[in-house]
Amino acid sequence: MLAKIKVNGIVQGVGFRPFVYRIATHLNLKGYVLNLGDAGVEIEVEGEEKKIYEFIDLLKKKKPSLAKIDEIKTEFGREKGYRKFEIKKSIDKIEEGVSIIPPDIAICDKCIEDMKKQERRFNYFFTTCTNCGPRYTIIKKLPYDRQNTTMNEFEMCVDCYNEYTNPSDRRYHAQTIACKNCGPQIFLKDGSKIFEGEYGIKKAINLIKKGKIVAIKGIGGYHLACIADEKGEHVKKLRELLGRPQKPFALMAKDIEMVKEIAFINKYEEEILKSHIRPIVLLEKRRELPYVAPLLHNYGIMLPYTGLHLLLFEEIDMPLVMTSANLPGKPIIYNEEDIEKIGADAILFYNRKIWQRSDDSILRYVGKNALLIRRSRGYVPSGIKVDGKTYAILGVGAEENVSACILNRGYAFLSQYIGHVNKIETFEFFEDTIQHMKKLINVDFEAIACDMHPSFLTTKYAEEISAERELPLFRVQHHHAHIAKVMAEHNLNESIGIAIDGMGYGEDGNIWGGEILYCSIGEYKRLGHLEYHKMPGGDLATKYPLRMLAGIMGENVYDFLSERKEVFPHGEKEIEIVFKMIKNPSIKTSSCGRLLDAISALLDICHFMNYEGEPALKLESIARKGRNILEIEPLIKNGVIYTKNMVEEIFENRNGKRENLAYSAEEYIAKSLAQMAIEKAEEKDIENIVIAGGCAYNEHINLRIREMVENSALNFFVNSKVPCGDGGISFGQVMVANEKMKKS
Ligand code: ZN
Ligand code: ZN
Ligand code: FE
Repeated sequence: MLAKIKVNGIVQGVGFRPFVYRIATHLNLKGYVLNLGDAGVEIEVEGEEKKIYEFIDLLKKKKPSLAKIDEIKTEFGREKGYRKFEIKKSIDKIEEGVSIIPPDIAICDKCIEDMKKQERRFNYFFTTCTNCGPRYTIIKKLPYDRQNTTMNEFEMCVDCYNEYTNPSDRRYHAQTIACKNCGPQIFLKDGSKIFEGEYGIKKAINLIKKGKIVAIKGIGGYHLACIADEKGEHVKKLRELLGRPQKPFALMAKDIEMVKEIAFINKYEEEILKSHIRPIVLLEKRRELPYVAPLLHNYGIMLPYTGLHLLLFEEIDMPLVMTSANLPGKPIIYNEEDIEKIGADAILFYNRKIWQRSDDSILRYVGKNALLIRRSRGYVPSGIKVDGKTYAILGVGAEENVSACILNRGYAFLSQYIGHVNKIETFEFFEDTIQHMKKLINVDFEAIACDMHPSFLTTKYAEEISAERELPLFRVQHHHAHIAKVMAEHNLNESIGIAIDGMGYGEDGNIWGGEILYCSIGEYKRLGHLEYHKMPGGDLATKYPLRMLAGIMGENVYDFLSERKEVFPHGEKEIEIVFKMIKNPSIKTSSCGRLLDAISALLDICHFMNYEGEPALKLESIARKGRNILEIEPLIKNGVIYTKNMVEEIFENRNGKRENLAYSAEEYIAKSLAQMAIEKAEEKDIENIVIAGGCAYNEHINLRIREMVENSALNFFVNSKVPCGDGGISFGQVMVANEKMKKS
């Protein structure tokens, strides 16, 4: 009997073909296995019927750890008389399909062993195999073969070639195969001096130990590294260098024991930290390392994920700050020219190019749910399976935390984190990423989806493409996209959505951000929202949350602001203007983020926003130690959740304990949103309540809403495959547009 088998999923670059070879030869089956451009793997096996069934069974059960099988199609036919089983060369022609290369993978245990034992790879920083190493960041085009990656510049030595061509070797067809003799080399640039190889690494270690800031080339871009010392001297210096006074820095710890010394960690967090994804995980502080994450209750920590990281930690016994190297608002630096501009004390780099940049991924556990804050290295470009008919659609995201998304043939492919698309460099990165993803997926778009905001650069980009190629353009309301992305992930037809975030363009021209929506994936109806407040000065009210407080409270807080006039660049005069503005009609917002910011300002926690979400994040960190002393009852009328009453009450009690006031405010917001959503769900006989948006990361708010929803015997959903915040919005956009395409 002969069976022709097609396997779709993540089956390229993960050691799938050698695995197929091994089980086929073990079962004495003849035939071949072949990578199909971007269309998965094709296998033909012939032999005894029983053995063929066993083969298919083993294919599913024993697959390599990094492979992901989404679909196996089998056709039986007449025998062709194969004499042996072989691994055929990849077909160059790219078919239209769904398979895509795997993400970048942290160094595996066997490679770590090789770095200690194998002569050619002893302490070799770029040790990888079929189970580990960079993928997405080095590939130029499909299929995933060495000549299509930035490894093409390195010719294999005889030893590497023998491994590469030996089906029983772990590095059989490992496209990143390399050793000291033939692979990428490492250098340390210290002023005008250059040190090579292991000696360079040693020098870098010494500099770091002395408190210097060293730029280190990683997988998807450069990090800036320094010791997170007890006094924070070096970290402070790094803050000054980057002009970044407050934004938290990520840490890298030598191992899980070191993580436990500085943070509290549960078993889920430990598992994901050690996984081959190796994301940054936000963990509650156990010990304060000054200047690392000022006034926050948690650190972002990750474990080493390359051979180079491991070599550094062989001699450094302290956590390192490892923050993405970028200039403010610009994307992560990934080449040797740009890193010079940062002004680090030294640069540790290697001579293999990074083709696509990719930041470290970030996630946080809230209760049982792992919430992705940034989905990048380790995840991208894995597709998210989507049910039902799909069109080929590009989603361009909003403006902050942008990622793009391509829907094609039952999968949504989310790009890596791009950033705030308002600077030319970031916008170029955005365009370049879309082109790259498009090539990897080999897709022709049938429609484009963007935000409703008319002046976002992403909207303009979408308008241009749609005009150029005469494609339908769908402008998706921001919060509808937020809710749709949760519904699509969990396969829900209808839901009541709670969309809470910083800002999104509303259909009435106001800024929305505290919304209760009825949603199907394709349609939505606004059922209610947080009370509108004026935003004196628009964006300035985001930067200076005391302005927002004035927008909410009016004249009552005039003196309060005056007492804090040093916060405002133009002092008293500016305050006068703010209150004049409030008397006139101006932009209004129902944003949950702005409300939390105002409370943060009212409690003197944060008066100036240095980084996105800062006032609300610091409020959360304070509120953790509080309790609900005020017990303010939700005031809800005609679809409006009133909030001025709550802010007034906090204001009156402002001399009380900040922790309790912060907690009481969050409690009010969570409770009133949940109460309204539950009422609407019961009214409409809907079982599912969905929460999304940047404020959904707030542990207290998230868990309280969940508790109330579940106590009402309703189902609670949140994203776990894409970010809750705007980093996942492009996924929501394509799903809404897809529904609309189905109906048109
Ligand atoms: Zn490996
Ligand atoms: Zn070699
Ligand atoms: Fe949003």
